[in-house]
Amino acid sequence: MAQACERQPIVGFSSGILPIPQPEDKVLVEYVYVDHSRTDIHWKTRTLDFEPMSAQACPVWDTLMYNNFEGKEPRVEVLIVPVSLYRDPFRRGKNKLVFCQIYEKMDKPAFINTRHTCEKVLDKISEDEPWFGLEQEYFILGSDQRPAGWKTEKSFRPKDYHSLCGLTRTAGLERELVDVHYQACLFAGLKIGGINREDAPGQWEYQIGPCLGISAGDEVWVSRYLLLRVGEMFGVEISFFPKPVEDALPAAGVHINCSTRRMREEGGYKYIVEAVEKLAKTPQDVVLKMYDPHNGKDNEKRLKGNYFVPESSHFSWGVGDRLASIRIPILVAERKRGYFEDRRPSSNCDPFCAIEVLVRASMLDEFL
Ligand code: ADP
Ligand code: MN
Ligand code: MN
Ligand code: MN
Ligand code: MN
Repeated sequence: MAQACERQPIVGFSSGILPIPQPEDKVLVEYVYVDHSRTDIHWKTRTLDFEPMSAQACPVWDTLMYNNFEGKEPRVEVLIVPVSLYRDPFRRGKNKLVFCQIYEKMDKPAFINTRHTCEKVLDKISEDEPWFGLEQEYFILGSDQRPAGWKTEKSFRPKDYHSLCGLTRTAGLERELVDVHYQACLFAGLKIGGINREDAPGQWEYQIGPCLGISAGDEVWVSRYLLLRVGEMFGVEISFFPKPVEDALPAAGVHINCSTRRMREEGGYKYIVEAVEKLAKTPQDVVLKMYDPHNGKDNEKRLKGNYFVPESSHFSWGVGDRLASIRIPILVAERKRGYFEDRRPSSNCDPFCAIEVLVRASMLDEFL
């Protein structure tokens, strides 16, 4: 997590638009990419003389990148390769955002390119038309680097812990930030399905999807980028860390909802149960290692089997069960078709890693 820093928010400058007109023949493209940490998002902007209508129309870009992964070179030269294109909600007009993956050379994905490995796995089941819907939980931090509204050293009053989908006196500014992010995602063209207030003060959620295949991962990363940008505007920090205060109860996850075409069709329930039973037979640690960026260490702090969060030590599933590893929503059980929800992934997971291992375990029989 970033260091605490004392700074004044630049109030009144949050529209993101400078009052200077942009030449009509120029388009600004914001390249967005994730570095070796699998948590940190970077950006750089490029002026184009044309409006790109696809990610592939945006030039590949040589870039210097931090590489503190596995103690290799501190910095490394890479290629950032555009893969998905969105509208830029801050610069607007014809300006774009483009999400990129990392290559070493034109024909060699970087070894930390988790999107590439995820895509190879998804290619094996492309005929099943997999959909993913991810619920991203996060905390808004106050200037003391603790979740906003947390007053005392260890936690807050237990009665505060009832804000799920609720109204609270202190949430006004947070709500404004959350709504700006919601609108920014919609403007960009992301499939943001909704938002809600979460259990603890300062804790919120939004949902991405359902998205077909690999686009789910792209959209989650871009939505995080937009949230961090909105945080900048409001002068507050956003945390995707699953357990911002170790001794306190609240924790944040990314639930992954998943279905294939036949699960969604009439009588699809049996395929849902089939996938869940495969997950039950998969060694937990194989999956949990991929559900946060530090081999399960961050998420271990969260998966305690309390307050709607499953336990790391044993697998369980159930209809309408929010303490289980896998929940089948009540409406899915009633309609006998739909999707299942994996409640285990951490709020700071790399969605490409999480989706990849979920598919390998529940659909490709790789760990049975
Ligand atoms: P809850 O908080 O009750 O778990 P949410 O409404 O927050 O549920 O999130 C539901 C998620 O399920 C959304 O991300 C949505 O995109 C996803 N979803 C809905 N239908 C499907 C489906 N058929 N396949 C995959 N994901 C789905
Ligand atoms: Mn330079
Ligand atoms: Mn939810
Ligand atoms: Mn939630
Ligand atoms: Mn959920």
